[in-house]
Formats: sequence, C-alpha cells, structure tokens
Amino acid sequence: MLQNPPAQPGMREEEVDTPALILDLDAFEANLDSMAAILAPTGAKLRAHAKTHKSPVVALQQMKRGAVGQCTQKVAEAEALAWGGVPDILVSNEVVAPRKLARLAALSGISRVALCADHADAVGLIEQAAQAAGTRLSVLVEIDVGAGRCGVSPGPEAVALASRIAASRHLIFGGLQAYHGRAQHIRSPEARTAAITSAVDSTRRTVEQLRQQGLECGIVGGGGTGTFRHEASSGVFTEIQAGSYAFMDADYAANEDAPPFRQSLFLLTQVMSVPKPDLAVVDAGHKAAPTDSGFPQLWERPGLTYSGASDEHGNLRVEGGKRPKLGEKLRLVPGHCDPTIDRYDWFVGVRRGRVECLWPIAARGAMS
Ligand code: PLP
Ligand code: MN
Repeated sequence: MLQNPPAQPGMREEEVDTPALILDLDAFEANLDSMAAILAPTGAKLRAHAKTHKSPVVALQQMKRGAVGQCTQKVAEAEALAWGGVPDILVSNEVVAPRKLARLAALSGISRVALCADHADAVGLIEQAAQAAGTRLSVLVEIDVGAGRCGVSPGPEAVALASRIAASRHLIFGGLQAYHGRAQHIRSPEARTAAITSAVDSTRRTVEQLRQQGLECGIVGGGGTGTFRHEASSGVFTEIQAGSYAFMDADYAANEDAPPFRQSLFLLTQVMSVPKPDLAVVDAGHKAAPTDSGFPQLWERPGLTYSGASDEHGNLRVEGGKRPKLGEKLRLVPGHCDPTIDRYDWFVGVRRGRVECLWPIAARGAMS
C-alpha cells in the first residue's frame, strides 16, 4: 500500500516525518550532470540502472541528460518505467517464467524492450512468448566476465547461444550483457582495474568472435558505479549501466578511490529517547535501513556512531558529550542505496533545507 507522503512542498527539512528518504536535489542533479560529462568524450552511452531508483521521474531526468534508456532487473520494474513513459528498457537479467515473459512481450507494445538469456532453453521460452504476442523480442547473451553469477562463458558458448537467437524469426540478437558485479566494491583501485581489464578482454574477444560469424552486437552493456570509467573508455562497451552514482552510499564511499559523486541520498531519523548520557535512540532500525553493507552512518555529526539496531530502533553511541536532543532530526547515510530506496514510497526532494518535491518510488517492492 502506498503510504501518505511524509512531507509537503515548502516545509523545512526538520518538519519532515521520520523515517523518510531525503534527496538532496543539488547533489543529485550534480551527480547526473557529472555522469553525463564523464561519458560524453568516451562514446559510451548511459543506460542507467533503475533497480536503484525504481522511479520513472528519476529515469526521465537521466534521459534528458543523454541516457539512451534504462536497465531493470525485474519485469515489474520494467512495467513501472514503461507506464511512466520510459521508451527504451533492457531487463539486464534472465527471465524464464512464461507469465513474466508474456507481460514483457505485451510491454513491447508501448516501449522498446530487451532482455538477457544464458541458456538455450530460456531462449526457447522467450521465443514462445514473442510468438504468442505477435512481436519480436530483442535478446542479449549474458556472459560471465568474473562475477560468478549468471552468464555463459565468453567465447564459443556465447557465439552458439547468439546464433540460436539470431536464427529465430521471433527474436533479434541484441548484443552482450557483460556486468562484473563483484568488481564494483573491490577497495583497491589496482585490484579493481585488474578485474575489469580481464572482463573487458573477454568481452572484446567475444565481440570479435561473434563478428566473424556475421553477428553484430547492437549493445555491449555493463559497468557499475565503481568501474564504469574502465568500461566506458574500453572502446568495446557501448552502454554503461551504473545506478548508484545518482545517490551514493557508505559502501561506495569506502572504496579507496571513491567514485566522483556526491552523497545525495539520506535517511532522516528522529531521536526518540535519550536514556543515558552516552546513548541516543533513533526511529530508524532494521526496517528503515538494510544492513547488508553495514549500519548507516551519521552525516556530519562527529562524536556520534550508529552502533546497533533492532527492528524499529537505532542506537547512537555518544562520545565527547555531544548527545543530540530529544526530538532532534538527524541525517543518516545508507550503507547500500538500492535496498534502502526499496523500503520507501517517496523521495522527499530537498533544496537548501526546504522540501521542493515528492517523487513516488513507483516500482518500490517490485519483486516479480
Ligand atoms: N548492471 C547490473 C546488471 C547490475 O546488477 C548492477 C548492480 O548490481 C548495476 C548494473 C549497477 O550497479 P551500481 O548501482 O553499483 O552502479
Ligand atoms: Mn547495489
């Protein structure tokens, strides 16, 4: 159920109901501009990942700055974007459920839609869905370039699957999906560069082998916030799939060479109890902030540490006697932006301390 917005335009940030997701609009817009400026000289285009923002409002702002489309992981995310006016969507993921494939095929009536496959049987299922809907679906072959997640091996296996797609009357061979997820958060720049260099090499080799068989890749996609500059300057990748760059989080900030973006996403929380001199308790616990990448961190509050959580409580350890006041509102930096955004119905857009806009997180909770 969509919850009531926690704020109204014109309110001061301190008046926003908590916990709430605050988007610092100056920082957010600067991040979108920076990404466009970094990619412009490379020739690679942005197809931003909507699994992060889950919102057509954000998608259209990225596209206004040159993004060619959006990625999603789920069919339901693709639906939310298409219904919100996004014209070009790649499901950068495998889909094998016939009912989901039927939904995706139906969506191709209003937006350009593509998806990935890493098995001939999956290609058969996509083919059936496209045929039943009387449409042609574009299918990218996903290759495993080191992430150890989905994907066929680069090289001959990928060529065989691409040939199977290209031979179908109901499908179009769309290119390669080559995302190295594990590389994004490798802390040391040298080790991260080594991982991506190997991913780029195996992708380049596969593109060449496909070409020898007369198969051209319309899209060679990959790259996240931690590595995209490598993929973008490789001459092989045509599309960059970064998502977190628009918001940032504590996990990306912890890379030794943190990506060149500002923290724009915050959790606003309220101190609801000050039971001891060295303890303040806020209303953002596990349900407000996922902890897969560690606890959220205090924003610009030295002497305060988020040290523990239960379902609806967050414990702040106080050092040096600077305990916040009862009722005070504090900004937290999420450990991991994607699952954090998925917990909220609204972005509360704030500029210089005032609420400017409320954007629905339309695909929030989209699982299917
Ligand atoms: N592309 C794919 C296929 C992904 O799974 C992800 C995230 O895991 C991304 C791109 C974007 O990564 P990030 O949000 O770290 O920029
Ligand atoms: Mn993530």
